[in-house]
Amino acid sequence: HLFLTQLFLAKVLNMRTVEEALSQILEAVKPGGSERMPLLKSLGLVLAEEVVADIPIPPFSNSAVDGYAVRAEDTLAADRLHPVVLKEAGEILAGQVSQEPVARGTAVRIMTGAPIPPGADALVMIEDCVRLSDGRVEIHEAAELGRHVRLQGEDIRKGEIVLSPGTLIRPAEIAMLATMGRSDVLTYRKPRVAVISTGDEVVEIETGVIPPPGKIRNSNQYALVAMLMEAGGVVHSLTHIPDDLKKTKEALRMCAEADVIVTAGGVSVGDRDYVKPALEALGTLELWQVAMKPGKPLAFGRIGKTLFFGLPGNPVSAMVTFELFVRPALWKMAGRTEKLLARMQVQAKLTHPIRHAPGRREYVRVSTFERDGELFATPTGAQGSGILRSMTLSNALLIIPAEYENMEAGERAIVVLTG
Ligand code: AMP
Ligand code: MG
Repeated sequence: HLFLTQLFLAKVLNMRTVEEALSQILEAVKPGGSERMPLLKSLGLVLAEEVVADIPIPPFSNSAVDGYAVRAEDTLAADRLHPVVLKEAGEILAGQVSQEPVARGTAVRIMTGAPIPPGADALVMIEDCVRLSDGRVEIHEAAELGRHVRLQGEDIRKGEIVLSPGTLIRPAEIAMLATMGRSDVLTYRKPRVAVISTGDEVVEIETGVIPPPGKIRNSNQYALVAMLMEAGGVVHSLTHIPDDLKKTKEALRMCAEADVIVTAGGVSVGDRDYVKPALEALGTLELWQVAMKPGKPLAFGRIGKTLFFGLPGNPVSAMVTFELFVRPALWKMAGRTEKLLARMQVQAKLTHPIRHAPGRREYVRVSTFERDGELFATPTGAQGSGILRSMTLSNALLIIPAEYENMEAGERAIVVLTG
């Protein structure tokens, strides 16, 4: 028994760990080229240039409130019981500029965002004033020097770097780019991904059509396209090939223009698994088999400049290996910096026991929920590598380290939040 265990572990030890495989893959990935994009088209892309402030923000000192611009010293004695009365000397609306200095004993009505007039050094909120009918205004509160004033340049100085290359463009970055007047922006190109599904047993889907005996529907092609689109890639081409070496090589040759080829199936040790031989005929196989479950028979290599991922055919294995290896590769290719490649990982407490034999790291489909400030994880059902149902019910993958035995309810583990 001990001998067999050692033999088994030796086999496992020959495989790459998930970390080793990922760093080998990411090493091979270079960010793609860049292109100029209209501002809103850049949402979800990665910035490929440095953005420098062409103006200070705020561009001019302005009012943070609707109220009165005053000289603070005029209002020192004011409070609710002893209001100070000032002469109302005009009004400045947002978008207007007043050069007229605020004279002693006067207050200028001002709206949020309007430039502070010369002479004024504080603002009183409209809520703390009472406008009289004779052109004067009661000030019910002493104005603090600088109060409610948004100073020119207090957020951003002119010439300051506001966004760096490698930044993911989210709505906040869109707002910043707009603030800097950037109606277009240099971004990294989306990686172009060729998807190839394989298998004599696999047929195209059509609503209402039941596959003939022995055949199954092609779910992988759709799963992989969905994942690559979610990861910010674009489809180069979609192909399905039978289990045939010549046709496999032909299909790979057709993808020379793609940045990435992703195949599903035909990469294991079956009699008609032709993906590896085809890859080795046209390019190089750089990695095969990772000590993980599901997803062991992952292949990675290159054909010319195109990166190649041979994912296992089992639907969950294909999706999990895509999530762990293809997605970060696409994100790096799309210009994201190293620290933006990982998903959020947190600790969670298991609500149910999970069986696990030492050997490979396992990714368990779980759903997470929070109770009393603690995160819990519940396995979403049977964990076979073809069982999509537990995939649809999950929002995270719980990691059981390779060397672990069974895990008990109440034990803690890391979960990867996949969304
Ligand atoms: P393979 O890696 O080619 O041996 O495939 C492993 C398992 O995944 C088999 O049960 C296949 O029938 C299944 N499979 C392979 N390709 C697909 C696909 N495109 N869609 C759904 N299932 C697939
Ligand atoms: Mg197959």
